[in-house]
Amino acid sequence: MTQFDTYDSLLSSIVAESGDEVKNPATGEVVGIAPSGTPEDMDAAVQRARDAQKAWAKLGEEKRNELLVAAADAVDAAAEPLAELLSREQGKPLNGPNARFEVGACSSWLRVTASFDSPDHTVVEDGETTAKIYYRPLGVVGAIGPWNWPMMISVWQFAAALRMGNTVVLKPSEYTPLSVLALVKVINTVLPEDVLNVVTGGGDVGGALSANAGIDKIMFTGSTETGRRILESTAASLARVTLELGGNDAGIVLDDVNPKEIAEGLFWGAFINTGQTCAAMKRLYVPESIYDDVVEALVEVSKNMPMGVGLEEENVLGPLQNRQQFDIVDRLVKEAKDGGARILTGGDPDYDQPGYFYPTTLVSDIDNDNPLVAEEQFGPALPIIKYSTLDEAIEMANALDVGLGSSVWSADRERALEVAAELEAGTTWINAHGTVDPRIPFGGMKNSGYGLEFGIEGLKGVAYPHVVNG
Ligand code: NAD
Repeated sequence: MTQFDTYDSLLSSIVAESGDEVKNPATGEVVGIAPSGTPEDMDAAVQRARDAQKAWAKLGEEKRNELLVAAADAVDAAAEPLAELLSREQGKPLNGPNARFEVGACSSWLRVTASFDSPDHTVVEDGETTAKIYYRPLGVVGAIGPWNWPMMISVWQFAAALRMGNTVVLKPSEYTPLSVLALVKVINTVLPEDVLNVVTGGGDVGGALSANAGIDKIMFTGSTETGRRILESTAASLARVTLELGGNDAGIVLDDVNPKEIAEGLFWGAFINTGQTCAAMKRLYVPESIYDDVVEALVEVSKNMPMGVGLEEENVLGPLQNRQQFDIVDRLVKEAKDGGARILTGGDPDYDQPGYFYPTTLVSDIDNDNPLVAEEQFGPALPIIKYSTLDEAIEMANALDVGLGSSVWSADRERALEVAAELEAGTTWINAHGTVDPRIPFGGMKNSGYGLEFGIEGLKGVAYPHVVNG
């Protein structure tokens, strides 16, 4: 039993009396009121984090790791109320790779991050010279996050930072503040005061964090456009920055696959979190020899994936999180139709419903330069593009200015590896897409950003390398 073992006890511990109303995107019902933080609140939080940092660093890595494991236990103990709140606020269903899965990922990221060996290592030891690199805490890490995986992405940003001896100030998305407030509330039952802080609010509050002279590093996950603004705001402080930005991931199917065998993997690669996932497959390239079979197999799988209100246990797909995202998906699917593409399923939302539900939409016979292919739709729509030669598919996959993830689907690993070597992306998955793992570094290239999270590389990303020579 914990103090947050019911939904009501968790919610009442975080909501404000006045502030920003948060509504369930599936029903329009009010979930709760989030405090509307100000830039001054942010400055005060950064100061508290600074004041707490030295003592946190002094605790030592072993003790900090114990506390991260205790934090994971606290998340596990409050898992069901956390998942319920996440489902109500973000819209994602409890089941499928959604709310319960996300809360589970939070605890496993904390546990696994605490289990890594130290990144410190010897660079030269030859009898004459001894040089070592020690990874020291940077100080205060500011973490600014999006609304699609609000809890999990926050943990991605702060688990490594805390482990390395930094204190952290989070600024969650204004669309999903309650989920992050709740997660921090639960974790702070075990952490020392002011080590992990959160201030809710809009872009101005995020700007106050990234421009604060007391910040040593910004971990940012969100759009490419905001990423650029964050870089500008750190020019004076020279704070280091990790940018996990937008993507428009390509999947390439090779002609040796069995379409029925890969259809479910393709489906979840594209539609995980109802397509609101940075590294989801957003364009699928299929050879003409098996095009119809792959399309048919995907349509079959999609028929068995219920979409609806997140708290109803049977659903595995939910609404778009906000009106703005609904409008983007709606516009892009309309542009696809206007461009002569075939809408195989979906494409016909009910505009009068209370929620932002956009049906699962599979689109075939579409050109590579159609906006539904070329822009990040970030929703439940998948354009399936026909190709005749592999070179052509690789060229189309690499044609965009983003490079987060990509995937190759083949029965022949060697062939898949050859294609992977040609793809411009931070990660290429083989026979999967978007499966992240706390042990395996993750990050983008091109306009998808730079810097790595997860694994030992992720630890190094929130520390400075201190060379000791002699
Ligand atoms: P967004 O850029 O609109 O907002 C992200 C965060 O930045 C929010 O907390 C927002 O309040 C804050 N912000 C806005 N203006 C700011 C400013 N001037 N200074 C500081 N902070 C500011 O992004 P979003 O719509 O919330 O998220 C969707 C985007 O995030 C998509 O493009 C998606 O691909 C991307 N994303 C990337 C990854 C990744 O790991 N690469 C993961 C998830 C989402």
